[in-house]
Amino acid sequence: MSTFEDFGLNEKLLAAIKKRGFENPTPIQEKVIPQLLSSEKDIIGLAQTGTGKTAAFGLPIIERIDANLNQTQAIILSPTRELCVQIAKDLISFAEFMPEVKIVAVYGGASIEPQIKSLKAGAHIVVGTPGRVMDLIERKALKIGKIKTLVLDEADEMLDMGFKEDLDNILSSTPDFKQTLLFSATMPDDIRRIAEDYMMQPMEISVGKKNSGAENVDHVYYLVSAKNRYLALKRIVDINPNIYGIVFCRTRKETQEVADKLIQDGYNADSLHGDLSQAQRDMVMAKFRSKHLQVLVATDVAARGIDVNDLTHIINYNLPDERETYIHRSGRTGRAGKRGMCITIVHTREEHKIREIEKLLKKEIVRKKIPDGKEICMIQLMSMIDKVMAIETIDGQIKEFLPAIMLRLQSLDREELIKRFVSTEFNRFLNYYKGAADINIYDKDKKGKGRMTSTSTTRTRNAKVASRMRRKVASNAIQMTDSTSAVAR
Ligand code: AMP
Repeated sequence: MSTFEDFGLNEKLLAAIKKRGFENPTPIQEKVIPQLLSSEKDIIGLAQTGTGKTAAFGLPIIERIDANLNQTQAIILSPTRELCVQIAKDLISFAEFMPEVKIVAVYGGASIEPQIKSLKAGAHIVVGTPGRVMDLIERKALKIGKIKTLVLDEADEMLDMGFKEDLDNILSSTPDFKQTLLFSATMPDDIRRIAEDYMMQPMEISVGKKNSGAENVDHVYYLVSAKNRYLALKRIVDINPNIYGIVFCRTRKETQEVADKLIQDGYNADSLHGDLSQAQRDMVMAKFRSKHLQVLVATDVAARGIDVNDLTHIINYNLPDERETYIHRSGRTGRAGKRGMCITIVHTREEHKIREIEKLLKKEIVRKKIPDGKEICMIQLMSMIDKVMAIETIDGQIKEFLPAIMLRLQSLDREELIKRFVSTEFNRFLNYYKGAADINIYDKDKKGKGRMTSTSTTRTRNAKVASRMRRKVASNAIQMTDSTSAVAR
């Protein structure tokens, strides 16, 4: 295995890498960095977000900047404002000890004037969304006629978002001789076409299997009738008390409806979709990133560029139309060495689509039984008990109230006391699940389809996952809307 020192990066970059806590290069960095530092060849990198690709292209780009030349030497195009800001932030941190290298982010949804000002002040590296970059080129605020490096990041997403024309226009403003890097999680025909049109005999570098789900993501699905979709979602969230995840919906309307229902039912949830203003979206994302929000209900478009590394779950409220979208969605969990779970709620007539996705994923998507009320209550109660056990008591301050508390509680024995404390948090929750119906569909099983994992097996697995997550959450100190689990209403 090579080290960052082996690549011949300068001391200042090495110091910044060390400060970021990167010990060894990731597989894509091992392949891309030496290549970029030693050759002018175009590169196609098949890699998902989370693989360390920003440093893979960012470090050599910074290394090769001639800070004495006051002109833009590299441009990085990315699909969303969020991703753009993230990449720029990463590059700025890599160049922490090289303040002479100027890095500017330009993106839509924000005032253009300050961006023009920053460009005028000098921008060796520009990170931008295609629409805003085009706009700035037209206003002659951004000149990319002398760039040495062009990066198309998440190229498949840029095409999905309808940036094809902007990309064509931008690419035609760049010099013929430059190094082009294209990163994409998938390789649909449109990307192949871009590569053929704009790249010269590119070298293909791939990390992990092409089009495959991340190794550390478990894939499961629940089969319900369409009318029970929301009920199933609630149970899935309830059986995972420490969930920190995204629920994907098909449309903006459905996204808002599902989020509204969850909020109404007392869950710590919010929505993210294109009907919200940029300020509203920023606010939701800030809450989600800081873990003040457990469940984000989002459309695919709005969730693009969300760069959160430790999501525990991805839930497909609906299956997406494109199988590739499933891969994108599920790749948002199981990052940075952690395990994740991708859950899909499927209704009877959609089950065959699961088998299609399995083929692309090259992994089994396991059917699971929707938990019943008793199982959920057990998991929730144990989660609460674990929190009680983990809580730090502020002895000094509590002590002075203790005699009065003891006096009030003196007539209750230990069991009665526990019952009452649990009931203050849980009565509504226990009532909701009392006699709750079984919403599983069994018919298909009899024909041998849909290998449904028995609840007891999954419970053991769930309990392990839940306990792992509880430990994680305790350390991350997720702050919930109140002292109960958000789902225990
Ligand atoms: P990216 O795929 O560029 O979005 O990176 C995913 C995450 O991995 C980011 O949080 C990076 O800071 C982190 N990362 C990138 N390279 C390394 C490395 N060599 N060692 C540890 N973490 C890394």
